[in-house]
Amino acid sequence: MSSIQAIRGMNDILPTESKRWQFLESTVKSVLDQYGYKEIRMPVVEVTQLFKRSIGEVTDIVEKEMYTFDDRNGDSLTLRPEGTAGCVRAAQQHGLLHNQIQRLWYQGPMFRYEKPQKGRYRQFYQIGVETFGMASSDIDAEIILLTARLWKKLGLLDSVTLELNTLGSSEARGRYRKALVDYMEGVKDQLDEDSQRRLYSNPMRILDSKNQDTQKLLDKAPNFEDFLDDESSEHFSDLKSRLEAAGVSYKLNPRLVRGLDYYCKTVFEWTTDKLGAQGTVCAGGRYDGLVEQLGGKSTPAVGFAMGIERLLLLLETLELFPEELNQTVDAFFVAAGMEEELKAQVLCEQLRDSLPNLRLQMNCGGGSFKSQMKKADKSGAKVALVLGSNEMAEGKVVVKDLRNSDQEQQTVVFDELAQAISNYL
Ligand code: ATP
Ligand code: MG
Repeated sequence: MSSIQAIRGMNDILPTESKRWQFLESTVKSVLDQYGYKEIRMPVVEVTQLFKRSIGEVTDIVEKEMYTFDDRNGDSLTLRPEGTAGCVRAAQQHGLLHNQIQRLWYQGPMFRYEKPQKGRYRQFYQIGVETFGMASSDIDAEIILLTARLWKKLGLLDSVTLELNTLGSSEARGRYRKALVDYMEGVKDQLDEDSQRRLYSNPMRILDSKNQDTQKLLDKAPNFEDFLDDESSEHFSDLKSRLEAAGVSYKLNPRLVRGLDYYCKTVFEWTTDKLGAQGTVCAGGRYDGLVEQLGGKSTPAVGFAMGIERLLLLLETLELFPEELNQTVDAFFVAAGMEEELKAQVLCEQLRDSLPNLRLQMNCGGGSFKSQMKKADKSGAKVALVLGSNEMAEGKVVVKDLRNSDQEQQTVVFDELAQAISNYL
C-alpha cells in the first residue's frame, strides 16, 4: 500500500523552516506592538454566505477558489479564503465596532483552490491588519508606514515597491463602470475570454487582466481619474501628502483594482520583481462599505494582508535570515552511568532555573562518551558539559568549548556551573 501524502498545495513546515517562520512572525508582531495593535483570532471555518456577501459573488475567489462543503447538518460552510470577512463578522458580533476605534491584527492559514506553484498554495498563511472607525487618510497612511517599517526592519525596503491607487466612492465606480462597459462593448471581440466573461459581471477586473492584447485595448479606455468624486480625490491627495511627508515613496498604478469587491478609495500593494509572477507580498485598502453590507452600522475601515510564504521566499532569495536562526542549542550535557545521569538531570533543571535563557539539551538514550560527544557537536551547541565517574567523585563538571579548540577545557564545581556557562552565552 502506498503511503499517504499531504494534499497538493498544502505544505508541511518542517523544523528547519519553522525557525524562519517564527523569526518573521515575531518581527511582524514586534512592529504591530510598536503601533498598539491588538490581536484577534477567528475560526478557520465560516458560513459560506459570509464570503459570498463580502468578497463578491463574481470574484475569482468566490467563483472558483473556495473550499466549500456541507456539514452534517446540511449547512454550507467554507474554509476561509481571507481574513477580512471573518474579522468584520467577529468584530460586529461582539460589539467592537459601534462608536469605537479598533486597530486589530490576525494571523493564520487561508485556503484557496488555486493552481499550486512557487508563491501560490492552497493553504497559505497571512498576517493581516484591520482598522475600524477611522475615516480620514491618516490611518491609511499609518498602516502603510507600519508595513514600510517592517520592510526596513527585515532589510527588504529596497526590494519592494509601494503601488497606490484610489477606487473612489461606489457612485464614482458605478459611473466609471458604465463608461468602461460602453467602451469595452465596442472592442468586445478582441478581449480575452476571461475579460469577455467579466464584461457584465465584474468589468473593473478587466483592468487587472494579465493578457497583453487586452492591456493594449485598455490604453484607450476611459480614465478612472475623470470619474473620481471630490471626496475620494481629496482623501487620495491627503494620503499622498502624508506619505511624502513621512518619506515613503510610491508608484501610482491606475490599473490596480484588487480582486475583492469590498474596496473603495485607497488600494495598495507592495510588490517585488524578485519572485517572478507571484510578486505581491502585501495588499490592502479601504472598505468603508463592508460593515454595513454585512448588516452592521456604517463603519469606515481600512486594512491589509501580507503573504507569509512570499515574504519568506523573498528573505531567502536575498539571504536576509540572521545566521543565529540555525543555532537552537547553547549547551549539551553529556553523562554516562546511572548515578551520573541522575545527577546530570538534577543539574540541568538547576541550570534552567538559574539561566532561563540558556538552551540546554541533555543527552537521552545513553551511549558511550564518544558517541555522546558526537551528538553534542551535531546539536550545534557552543559548549559540552561532561559528567563522568571521576567528575562525579569530585563534585565537578567538565565544561568544554565545542567551537574553539584553542580554548582549554575547564573543570567547575557543581555550584559554579551556571556562572561558568553564562560566560559562553
Ligand atoms: P494574487 O494577485 O497574487 O493572487 P490576491 O490579490 O489574490 O493575490 P489577496 O487576497 O489580496 O491576494 O491576499 C493578500 C496577500 O496574500 C497576497 O498579496 C499574497 O502575498 C498572499 N496570497 C494570496 N493568495 C495566495 C496563495 N494562493 N498562496 C500564497 N500566498 C497568497
Ligand atoms: Mg489571487
